[in-house]
Amino acid sequence: QTLLEVRDLCASVNGTDILKGLNFTVKRGEVHAIMGPNGSGKSTFAKVLAGHAAYQVTGGEVLFEGKNLLELSPEMRARAGVFLAFQYPIEIPGVGNSQFLRLAYNTVQAERGHDELDPLEFDDLVREKMKLLEMSPEFLERSVNEGFSGGEKKRNEILQMALLEPSLAILDETDSGLDIDALRVVSQGVNHLASKDNAIVLVTHYQRLLNYIVPDYVHVMSAGRIIRTGGKELALELEERGYDWIEAEAEAAG
Ligand code: ADP
Ligand code: MG
Ligand code: MG
Repeated sequence: QTLLEVRDLCASVNGTDILKGLNFTVKRGEVHAIMGPNGSGKSTFAKVLAGHAAYQVTGGEVLFEGKNLLELSPEMRARAGVFLAFQYPIEIPGVGNSQFLRLAYNTVQAERGHDELDPLEFDDLVREKMKLLEMSPEFLERSVNEGFSGGEKKRNEILQMALLEPSLAILDETDSGLDIDALRVVSQGVNHLASKDNAIVLVTHYQRLLNYIVPDYVHVMSAGRIIRTGGKELALELEERGYDWIEAEAEAAG
């Protein structure tokens, strides 16, 4: 069952075309990895899906559960079940992490027609999820991401994801800057979330993450397009040979 369908997507930022006819289809139950050289438009694609205001869609369409995703505000996309874990999670000084997570959780629950949780009920739930991510409960008391290390911010993003249980989770280079223990724990969180009802899109530079979260499909992005799709073995080949040969082949094929 198709969850996300992207057709000929074109998008620009500050008047520069970045996405140039991108096609991408995701079914429920699948894990996709998007790889590609720096500057190929991977983060742009993730942000366009999330509805980031700085990016203009100049062509194509995006259907999420058969509906036009592009006409929804970023908030409505999140409520509809699209989650983007950022490459650089933001700090929100003065806002308690627990309060922030509970608000996000209750907003999504309300959208799904479920009851909100009061602070005590939420506390039980969030602590259970934190155990899975080997996070100390002390992170609940602190301001959102303020003074968190890079790895702690990313665990906090995955905590948010684990609470919201999105149907489409997009992780933009969540693995960059993680040491091997944090990588294992973050992967554990993602694998715990993955089910036959949802889908995961991993944007990554490195094959390493894909040893922990095994993708069904690996896509190579170059100059704003997906130029090659393969199975998990493609990631190993990229690790060995780089991207140039695929870009050359794509160019030769026109
Ligand atoms: P990737 O994630 O694959 O490394 P990005 O999507 O971050 O690539 O960037 C794609 C291209 O878009 C790059 O050339 C980058 O410089 C450009 N770009 C991204 N964001 C902006 C912006 N806010 N203003 C101008 N150019 C941008
Ligand atoms: Mg990059
Ligand atoms: Mg990027």
